[in-house]
Amino acid sequence: MTTETRLRIAMQKSGRLSDDTQALLKRCGLTINVADRRLLAHVANMPIDIMRVRSSDIPGLVMDGVCDLGIVGDNTLEEASLKRKLMGDKFEYVKTTPLNFGGCRLSIAMPEEFNYSSVDDLNGLRFATTYPQLLKRWADEKGINVEFCLLKGSVEVAPRVGLADGICDLVSTGATLEANGLVEVEEVFRSKASLIQTASPLTAEKQAILDTLLPRIMGVMKAKE
Ligand code: ATP
Repeated sequence: MTTETRLRIAMQKSGRLSDDTQALLKRCGLTINVADRRLLAHVANMPIDIMRVRSSDIPGLVMDGVCDLGIVGDNTLEEASLKRKLMGDKFEYVKTTPLNFGGCRLSIAMPEEFNYSSVDDLNGLRFATTYPQLLKRWADEKGINVEFCLLKGSVEVAPRVGLADGICDLVSTGATLEANGLVEVEEVFRSKASLIQTASPLTAEKQAILDTLLPRIMGVMKAKE
């Protein structure tokens, strides 16, 4: 648990969500030193610290109460939540507000030559994915069995090298799939970035900071619509 009076927000250090997150916080009036490469950056004009980490670490940091808030993709959040539930770890959090960036879908894609007609064609196949829990939940709902091999990157090469029959990966435009001879056949999960909050109550000081910050975030989101 954080005990200090400064509100601690976890954000992606570098990657697809980092620029939009940084822009959002800036538009909310937070002065962050962008040249500051430290893990924990102090906001100069508000009692807020920004913790820059990998996306996949954000759900756990918020669920364990190390950070008060986090900005993360729903895909990462839901996968972590399902995994922690399975492992008997703390998995509670509060979804403070959805954000209007980071849109993508987790989809199943098969090699072009695969003759796909229905979900049943996927029964018993093996998929390369970073999101085994989301894939498993979807397969259970559809009443099929799937196997998976866990890959953290370059998922789309797996069928070509004989590691898997297909993939279950994040897609936004579909250009990467096409470039790798894959065709999207099923959508497993639709995702956007969200602002999440630790499930434990905030101290009065931290709550007051959040009460100032949240309307600003909502205002920035509304202006972008
Ligand atoms: P990290 O390396 O920080 O643990 P990551 O490997 O998921 O995380 P990115 O590839 O930068 O890093 O993706 C961050 C998030 O951006 C994704 O989890 C997802 O929510 C969102 N996103 C939006 N569009 C896409 C896309 N086309 N491909 C992958 N992620 C996307």
